[in-house]
Amino acid sequence: MASIIRSLRPLSRAPTVRLAGKRLAAGRPVQSAYAFSTTPRRREVDISELTPTPITHLSETESLMADSVSKFAAEQIGPKVRDMDEAEHMDPKVVEQLFEQGLMGIEVPEEFGGAGMNFTAAIVAIEELARVDPSVSVLVDVHNTLVNTAILTHGDAQSHRTWLPKLTSGTVGSFCLSEPASGSDAFALQTKAEKTADGYKINGSKMWITNSMEAGIFIVFANIDPSKGYRGITAFIVEKDTPGFSIAKKEKKLGIRASSTCVLNFDDCVIPKSNLLGKEGQGYKYAISTLNEGRIGIAAQMTGLALGAWENAVRYVWNDRRQFGDLIGNFQGMQHQIAQAYTEIAAARALVYNAARKKEAGQDFVQDAAMAKLFASQVAGRVSSSAVEWMGGMGFVREGIAEKMYRDSKIGAIYEGTSNIQLQTIAKILQKKYTN
Ligand SMILES: Cc1cc2nc3c(=O)[nH]c(=O)nc-3n(C[C@H](O)[C@H](O)[C@H](O)COP(=O)(O)OP(=O)(O)OC[C@H]3O[C@@H](n4cnc5c(N)ncnc54)[C@H](O)[C@@H]3O)c2cc1C
Repeated sequence: MASIIRSLRPLSRAPTVRLAGKRLAAGRPVQSAYAFSTTPRRREVDISELTPTPITHLSETESLMADSVSKFAAEQIGPKVRDMDEAEHMDPKVVEQLFEQGLMGIEVPEEFGGAGMNFTAAIVAIEELARVDPSVSVLVDVHNTLVNTAILTHGDAQSHRTWLPKLTSGTVGSFCLSEPASGSDAFALQTKAEKTADGYKINGSKMWITNSMEAGIFIVFANIDPSKGYRGITAFIVEKDTPGFSIAKKEKKLGIRASSTCVLNFDDCVIPKSNLLGKEGQGYKYAISTLNEGRIGIAAQMTGLALGAWENAVRYVWNDRRQFGDLIGNFQGMQHQIAQAYTEIAAARALVYNAARKKEAGQDFVQDAAMAKLFASQVAGRVSSSAVEWMGGMGFVREGIAEKMYRDSKIGAIYEGTSNIQLQTIAKILQKKYTN
């Protein structure tokens, strides 16, 4: 199969900017030669005078990205979904294909082996993968929106040269913040980093870390000066083969079972100075800003999951299953539920794309990202649950994907900030706005 990114590259390099399906008028301040570039370049485009368009409108490149990933996921991942879930194991061939397709460096500039595309291109890829398998989707999501983004945004030129070519060519990344005693209260983390003559020594453990089994590069948050509280938190890069690093346990889970989730131990794990990401004491800022963006990715995963569950069920009720002499999808009691569910998916998608576009435009998107994640995970839960019921016994058995999507949906309300934490974020921003 030809690489998705290679086939989209000529388009993404086209010398015009096309937003809202219209070419920008001559003389607009378009400084980039890339039509759908990475976020910093996109900020150079003045969007204030553009005619507003439907929020779900995609550029030509983004639209082709969605179509290509959809085809790839259906053909290459679809046949493996059930087996990977039962085995609680990600097929290494799938990971290899994700790199071959260019889906592991979507926003990374081409000079480091990436596709140099924009954030929305990554969002549509995550959504389309989740329509088929939310486990594969989260692998791509964490790698792109957390690991690549953190290094691109906070790493210096040397870090870019060292880590990005690996992350775009075959090494999976992992983002390690949570610990046994610090989940929602992430900055209460206990892992410590001690300065040595030529680097740092890390001690502690991390919990529930996605991609651990597949990853070779781990972004690890540790406190370099606990007396400073969260202001001591610092981000480091640890490679898998570093002495003192180990995977202590692989979790058995309710959903996204093909995605690995592990406990990691750091036992006098010594890393060189060059593995510091950004600046000492800035880790809490990096974690907050990266997770704010990452939440849009999880919202996209949940939206894709909801649509995948919905499509799987409606195909059955509108084509296959007859009761009382009619297709069950012809009964009004079913049709109203199906229409309600689709409306909710469309609303979730609008929130997701709005948050993504605001991020790309350099606007404040924190509340939008929280609302998108909160709502999309609720919709995923409701729709995937209804989809099981619409399929009756066939939805409950472990043959198709209905019951798996239902199980997978639960994680949306937990990782990258629980639903309560999203509500807290939204309320805090609203309260500030409405307080005299
Ligand atoms: C499958 C999976 C993958 C994950 N992947 C990663 C990863 O790659 N990297 C990583 O760093 N972490 C990861 N996590 C961890 C995840 O981010 C945390 O589980 C999550 O932040 C919640 O923390 P917790 O589990 O400790 O729950 P807790 O913080 O103990 O929360 C339990 C409940 O209490 C509620 N609660 C807590 N505080 C408040 C409050 N102030 N107000 C109201 N309610 C509150 C929560 O909303 C929740 O309902 C993953 C977790 C899972 C399950």
